[in-house]
Amino acid sequence: MPVQVEKQPPELFVITDEKGPILYAPLRRVMARANENAIRIALDYAADPTSLTNQDDESRVMIQALEEHGFFERRPFPSHEPDFRPTQVTLFPTNRCNLRCSYCYAFGGEGGGNGEQLTTLSLDAARRAIDFIAKNAQELAAEGMPCRNFLVSIHGNGEPFSAFETLREIVWYARDLSEEVDFPVVLNTATNGVMNEEQLEFLVANFDNVNISFDGLPELQDAQRPLADGSGSFIYVDRTMRRLAEAELNFGIRATVTEAMVVRMAEIAAFVADNYPSVEQLHFEPVWECGRCVTSSDSTPSAELFCENYLKALEVAREKGLRLVYSGARQDMITDAFCKVSSGSYTVTPTGDVTACYEVSYKSDPRSERYFYGRYDPELGDYVYDEDKLGELADLNVKNIPFCTDCFCRWHCTGDCAAKVLEGRTPAEHQGSQRCVINRRLTLNQIQRKMDWREEDAR
Ligand code: SF4
Ligand code: SF4
Ligand code: SF4
Repeated sequence: MPVQVEKQPPELFVITDEKGPILYAPLRRVMARANENAIRIALDYAADPTSLTNQDDESRVMIQALEEHGFFERRPFPSHEPDFRPTQVTLFPTNRCNLRCSYCYAFGGEGGGNGEQLTTLSLDAARRAIDFIAKNAQELAAEGMPCRNFLVSIHGNGEPFSAFETLREIVWYARDLSEEVDFPVVLNTATNGVMNEEQLEFLVANFDNVNISFDGLPELQDAQRPLADGSGSFIYVDRTMRRLAEAELNFGIRATVTEAMVVRMAEIAAFVADNYPSVEQLHFEPVWECGRCVTSSDSTPSAELFCENYLKALEVAREKGLRLVYSGARQDMITDAFCKVSSGSYTVTPTGDVTACYEVSYKSDPRSERYFYGRYDPELGDYVYDEDKLGELADLNVKNIPFCTDCFCRWHCTGDCAAKVLEGRTPAEHQGSQRCVINRRLTLNQIQRKMDWREEDAR
C-alpha cells in the first residue's frame, strides 16, 4: 500500500502506512497509531479545542493522553540568533590527493577540474583562524554560554595527509594554544586513510575523532577509490583501520553508494562490522552526480533501490551492533537548517578563502558567489569577512523554503543539503530532489521502528 501523508494544523501529520494511520507531531517528535475515528477526533480537537465537549469519556481520555505527550502543543519553531562567533573551524590543508576517486566532487588532486592550482594552506592563515575560534570559545564560555572547547577539523577538497607538514603544524599549534590559554581543543579529521607509517602514528596519537572514507568492500574500494596511479587502495586503508582498532580508537566510516554497488549495502555492513569492530558508525550516502562523477561512469542509484538496500543493511547492522546513518534521515533532530551553512559554518580552503560549504571550495565554482564570505589577507595578517554575504547565507533556512512546508520531515531534513539541492537557486525556488524520496522513506522507517519498539516493550 502506498504511504499517504496529510498535513493538519498545528504541525500535525497523518501518515498512513500498511498498518493504518499514524498521528505524528514532528516538533515534539511524538507519534501514535490510532484508528481513523480517533484520528478524526484528535484533528477536530487540534483545530478547535471546544469540539471535545461533544465527545464521550473514552475520547476525552484519549485526547488527554495525547495532550500529555505534547501532540497539541504549539511549540515555537527552532531558530538561532545571527551572531558570527564561530567556535569551530574546518581547515583544508591542501587540494592535492593521493587517490583519484571516480566520483570525487572536488576533482581531488586535479585542481577542482577547472585548472585551478594545486596548493597548500599557509600556516599564517591556519593559525589566525584557530586564534579566532579559540578566542570566541573563551568569550562565550565567560559569558556563561555552554561552550566547553574549540574545535579544529581537518579535511579537505584533497587529502589532508598529502600536506603532512602543514597538517602537523596545525595540530601542534592548536594543542599549544589550548595549553597556553588553558581551554580545551578537540581535533577531528576526515581522511582517505592512505598514508605512511609516520602519518598513521601521528593520526593515532593526535586526533579525538577520525572519519575514514572507505567504500566498504576490498574490490569496491579498489575500483571506486584507486590510487593516483590507478592501482588499488584497499590494503592501505585496511592497515589504517586495523591500526586504529588496535589503538582502541573509535572511528567512523563513510561509504559512497553508486548504482553499481547499491545492492551490496548489506554485505558492506556485515564486512565492516566483522572486520573493524571499533567502528562507531557506518555512514552511507548515495553519490551525487557532480565533479569527477560527471566524467566517469558512476551514477546515482535510484531512490527506491537505495532505500531497499539501506533497510536490508540496517537489519544486518542492528544484529551486529553497528550504527548505520544516512544524512537525510534524522527523525531524532529538530532544527531549521540541514547543516551550519546558514549559521556561521567556517571553513578555510587551501587558498585561504572562507566558505560556508565543504563542497564549494573553489572560486571557479559558480556557487562560490553564494558560499564564499571571507578570505585571509596576508598583508593585514588577518581575515576579512563580508557581512552582507553572511546575512544572505542566514536565509538558507527551511522557513524560507515553501516546497518543504507540507513535508513531515520539514524540521528534521530541513530542505536537505543546500549546495546539492539548490545549486544556484534561491530557497523560494527549491524544487526538492530524488533525495526527498529517500529522506521521507527512511525517516518514516525511523518513526515506524520507534512505534514497534514501544509495542514490543509493552508486551
Ligand atoms: S580521497 Fe577525497 S579528495 Fe581525494 S579523490 Fe577521493 S574523494 Fe576526492
Ligand atoms: S550545504 Fe551540503 S555540502 Fe555544503 S556543508 Fe552543508 S551539507 Fe555539506
Ligand atoms: S527537502 Fe524534501 S524531504 Fe527534505 S524537508 Fe524538503 S520536501 Fe521534505
